Amino acid sequence: MEKEVILLKQGEIALKGLNRRAFEDVLLKNIRRRLKSVGEFSVSALQSTVYVEAKNEEADLDLAEERCAKVFGVVGYARAGAAEKELSKICEKAAEYLKDTLEGASTFKVECKRSDKKFPHKSPEVSAEVGGYLLERFPHLRVDVHHPDVTVRVEVREACAYVHTDPKPGAGGIPVGTGGKAAILISGGLDSPVAAWQMAKRGVELTAIHFASPPYTSELAHEKVVRLLRKVSEYAGRIKLITVNFTKLQEAIRDHCQEDLNTVILRRFMLRAAEQIAREEGCAALITGESLGQVASQTLQAIACTDAVAAMPVFRPLIGADKTEIVKLAYQIDTYGISIEPYEDCCTIFTPKHPRTRPILHFVEDAEKAIDGEALLREALTQVETMEIQAE
Ligand code: ATP
Ligand code: MG
Repeated sequence: MEKEVILLKQGEIALKGLNRRAFEDVLLKNIRRRLKSVGEFSVSALQSTVYVEAKNEEADLDLAEERCAKVFGVVGYARAGAAEKELSKICEKAAEYLKDTLEGASTFKVECKRSDKKFPHKSPEVSAEVGGYLLERFPHLRVDVHHPDVTVRVEVREACAYVHTDPKPGAGGIPVGTGGKAAILISGGLDSPVAAWQMAKRGVELTAIHFASPPYTSELAHEKVVRLLRKVSEYAGRIKLITVNFTKLQEAIRDHCQEDLNTVILRRFMLRAAEQIAREEGCAALITGESLGQVASQTLQAIACTDAVAAMPVFRPLIGADKTEIVKLAYQIDTYGISIEPYEDCCTIFTPKHPRTRPILHFVEDAEKAIDGEALLREALTQVETMEIQAE
């Protein structure tokens, strides 16, 4: 038997009691969707492990591994060699499949897990047998049960026995689609793609809303948002992007509202528009990339003024994060390089010279009355463009 598989270990999903089955179904669906363009695979689950097997030679297991590493709900994954359930076959498979790793190590230990209780050898016996065999085959090796260079893991399951080394860390989280749907207000900046990723990690399906103000913001800025979302979608699955034209509204604010309150007023209109769209899209919450104190519009007082217009919960997963922490995550999900490309965002055009860092709600509400916000909002909401974004 020459079979090789990817074993994916489910995380928290195992704690979900009666919902577990439903969670697992969503996880399998998400994995299958991400593997569709890679080749033909069989994907099945047994005892909180998901098995990914290539159905033919063309199916690329390396690429499949890369894709699976980004599926939320998987805490760890390992490539494993499959052996027939016979002690001698398991020993040979371990020696052959892990040859390179074992040759590069000085110490090792073997750990066996036997979920097939009908298998006639108990775990310690399998470990001892495989260990002894490997010592013979690789005479340079020593056993170290406390700090081995390599842990050879043997899992005796229903169909086969699997041999592998320590699993690599997976994306963690819970499967996207099990946590409802929320709308991320996405800019081309560093923060909002990371915020989107963090909520997707907790099982939330995403709809994205972007405000553009052409010609002040360019087509390239919009395209940048699309590329960012494509990166996020490697983890978050398909994302619908709704782009709203905010030019007229922004011009009206610039021309008629009290200058030092312009940013907070703009943000209130963003939230109002986003909430309406979110409702139509069946989203239960909004998400932003705000982080406390990062800019004038992200002080407690400014956030309070913005939040006052929203009836939906607004999640800000980065509220307590430092820029360095956000940058680290942006590197991890590979959005950093795109985010730092210099295109204007609608939040950065017409910015007041001295924005008020501690706006007071009733002054903001008064300042807002200088424009016919309702009509402008209604008009903006008729000028939307929609597209589906999905990583390959
Ligand atoms: P980001 O890095 O996400 O751009 P930022 O630190 O630059 O955030 P702001 O520009 O004040 O902060 O924006 C705060 C939040 O408002 C963003 O994280 C995003 O959720 C939302 N936002 C900003 N600009 C837009 C836009 N053009 N379209 C949709 N949402 C936006
Ligand atoms: Mg920004």
